[in-house]
Amino acid sequence: MIVFDLRCDSGHVFEAWFASGSAYDDQAAAGQVACPLCGVTKVAKAVMAPSIAAKSNRSGNGPAPAAVKAMLRQMAEHQATALRDSEWVGSAFADRARSMHEGVEAVRPIHGQASLAEAKALVEEGVPVAPLPFPVVPPEKAN
Ligand SMILES: [Zn+2]
Repeated sequence: MIVFDLRCDSGHVFEAWFASGSAYDDQAAAGQVACPLCGVTKVAKAVMAPSIAAKSNRSGNGPAPAAVKAMLRQMAEHQATALRDSEWVGSAFADRARSMHEGVEAVRPIHGQASLAEAKALVEEGVPVAPLPFPVVPPEKAN
């Protein structure tokens, strides 16, 4: 299993899981990798970590580490803003998202944890969910 940070043609960054690096190449080339936010299948690996940028720099491509850091900071701030009014529901995320989708519960912003299987099931049921670009520290662990 390998996790890639991908960026779609519209600039959305998301995480995706693949069996291997070549599995990603095959699926992306076949248009089977779609952005969870807009469904665009034109995606590329996003340069996310400064260590990756440093490696890219040595071969003469990729943004400068300072630019990557600034971009990461901007994205982290954007996520923090987006989550400010969102309720942390922890491992109840899949259940809560589903009951909101089914109208059992009033729709409100939530974020939490879901397994890959849970996230996949939600997407297949048409529940709008998306992975966050940055890991969130659960409130109970932050204390
Ligand atoms: Zn997109």
